[in-house]
Amino acid sequence: MMEREALEMDVVFVGAGPANLSGALHLTRLVKAHNEAVASGAKAGKALGEIEIGVIEKGSSVGAHILSGAVMDPRALKELLPDFVEQGAPLESLVKEDYFLYLTEKRAIRSPITPPPLKNHGYYIVSLNRLTAWLGEKCEEAGVNIFPEFPGAEMLYDAEDRVVGVRTGDKGIDKEGKRKPNFEPGVDLLAKVTVLGEGPRGSLTKQLTQRLKLDEGKEPQVYSVGVKELWELPDDRYPTGRVTHTLGFPSDTQTYGGGWIYGMQNRILNIGYVTGLDYRDPLLDPHAEFQRFKSHPYVSKLLEGGKMLRYGAKTIAAGGYFAMPKIYADGVLLVGDCAGFLNSQRLKGIHSAIKSGMLAAEAIFEALVASDFSAKQLQRYEQLVQSSWIMPELRKVRNFHAGFKHGRWLGIVNTGFQFITGGRAWGLFDRSKAEPGHEVMKRLSDYNYKGDNLEQRYNGLRFDGKITFNKLTDVYHASVGHDEDQPVHLHVLDTNICATRCVEEYGNPCQRFCPAAVYEMVDDGANGKRKLQINFSNCVHCKTCDIMDPYQIINWVTPEGGGGPDYKGM
Ligand code: SF4
Repeated sequence: MMEREALEMDVVFVGAGPANLSGALHLTRLVKAHNEAVASGAKAGKALGEIEIGVIEKGSSVGAHILSGAVMDPRALKELLPDFVEQGAPLESLVKEDYFLYLTEKRAIRSPITPPPLKNHGYYIVSLNRLTAWLGEKCEEAGVNIFPEFPGAEMLYDAEDRVVGVRTGDKGIDKEGKRKPNFEPGVDLLAKVTVLGEGPRGSLTKQLTQRLKLDEGKEPQVYSVGVKELWELPDDRYPTGRVTHTLGFPSDTQTYGGGWIYGMQNRILNIGYVTGLDYRDPLLDPHAEFQRFKSHPYVSKLLEGGKMLRYGAKTIAAGGYFAMPKIYADGVLLVGDCAGFLNSQRLKGIHSAIKSGMLAAEAIFEALVASDFSAKQLQRYEQLVQSSWIMPELRKVRNFHAGFKHGRWLGIVNTGFQFITGGRAWGLFDRSKAEPGHEVMKRLSDYNYKGDNLEQRYNGLRFDGKITFNKLTDVYHASVGHDEDQPVHLHVLDTNICATRCVEEYGNPCQRFCPAAVYEMVDDGANGKRKLQINFSNCVHCKTCDIMDPYQIINWVTPEGGGGPDYKGM
């Protein structure tokens, strides 16, 4: 057994995203206020003394792995820091105008009314990377210890399956699994409460959910993937503060998808496309969908003469209310996107992530006062969530995503029906028929495709290097870095399937659903077959492969700390 250092803390937050940073900051203040009130005699009871709060982050800095649209509803940030504007929160712009466009192949038709869920007046366009880094600074000022380059590698349990902390990843292991001269074993961070805020499809959240059956009796979670670029425009053709959402081209009517275009400061355009990871066509490629979106006459005219600056991709947990796992267990809480708090109809999750972190902090504070970290005590978190504004908001849109399983038009009708009825769906959209996205993908033969030639779906799509880019060019703009001499962090449990069944049945869709060209089928030399090559250093940590692989044999685990994209300004 390897000797590991054990570090005792009171609370460990895994992942420095908006939910966890808000939770850590709020908890620090609750403890401070309690201690001061007890010391002054204003409150009965015992002071809590010094509470050690740590946040670990797999990225090289706070915000490095954070990617979002993003238009932020400021409701929760106002609760956390009422004077966030005066304190200098990095906000790009207040939303000044909303456009909603329906795209046909050649035309963009502006809707005379913006659908209410996409009205963004009073909200802010932000770079979530910058906002998160700023929240990190607020935490550090308040005494929270933040440890970048520390990925959570596994959960630690006691003999009764209670979570007692998290083990961070080892450093300095070579690609053969041997120790290098700079080897450093991961540390066991022991905590009374561990808070998982890893974002969508967190690797520890996945382990924990399976082990403690946190998803028992819940709908399967479904996801979307957003692929995004930042552009610098040559002039003021797109005003700062304008928010455009699109429906229609290039998605086919059976695929959930839509585009966004946000005007940031200094002629920077934030443009992206979301594709539902419950698509049917095995030749679908979310990155290619985005490139087609940009090739639409309306969009390409907007980008003409501009320069693409940055690229990124990230998944979104879109299942909502019915797909949320149990969010507490002995010694552990789930917050933010890894608990499915996103409102997929509004395409917004930052506000609910921040709020969930704050509610987790309140539950942890009560647990610290009671000196009880059992599931029974921590259930308080769920009570707080249920009685907060989060749940009514999620309940109202509880059947939104499910409505699109019968295609775009019925999905829109269902959305309207939900809007009138406060979230009810009719029988056709019965949640009991929900399926995980990877089970929805059809086989090549269902589409009469011959092999995996993309032309069969993307006939005419060319990467011109001006408006449209291939994956490798885009990945270069994500500033991805991984030490090449480390074990591959994409574990494919049975590569035989790739070269046999998957070629025949789906044409190796990992080559397409990965937006970073990580998976590649290459010649296997002598036998004339092809084998899987994993270019793991390209990985932008979006988790699409873990979600969408039809055989569920891809397991994404954390690579060595500090590796991955650097989403500065995204
Ligand atoms: Fe995303 Fe998986 Fe590709 Fe990494 S390997 S970029 S997690 S799809």
